[in-house]
Amino acid sequence: MTVIGIYEDTEFEADFTVDLGKGIRAEYLTHRRKAAGIVVCHRLSGNIACATSVFWTSVNHQKTYTRINNDPLTIEEDIRCSCGLHGWIKEGVWEHAIDSLM
Ligand SMILES: [Zn+2]
Repeated sequence: MTVIGIYEDTEFEADFTVDLGKGIRAEYLTHRRKAAGIVVCHRLSGNIACATSVFWTSVNHQKTYTRINNDPLTIEEDIRCSCGLHGWIKEGVWEHAIDSLM
């Protein structure tokens, strides 16, 4: 695995990717060989890459989400990206909120 980023003193590695449908995918992040969360990757108009992170383990000052199930992935809280993407991951599938910009 390759180290893809360092948040303060915490190293994360990209592990594997799950397609959530609707053009959205989850890239799993591992920390000390345990799945710590995902990056919710998507594309804006003009094919510009955008992403927001969802951690279910406590990482510094990041918001901590509740992982109800791992496979298929279900996160309890809604997920909101700075671009306006808003929704939920339920049973491994992305569900847009009514105010989601995508
Ligand atoms: Zn976004």
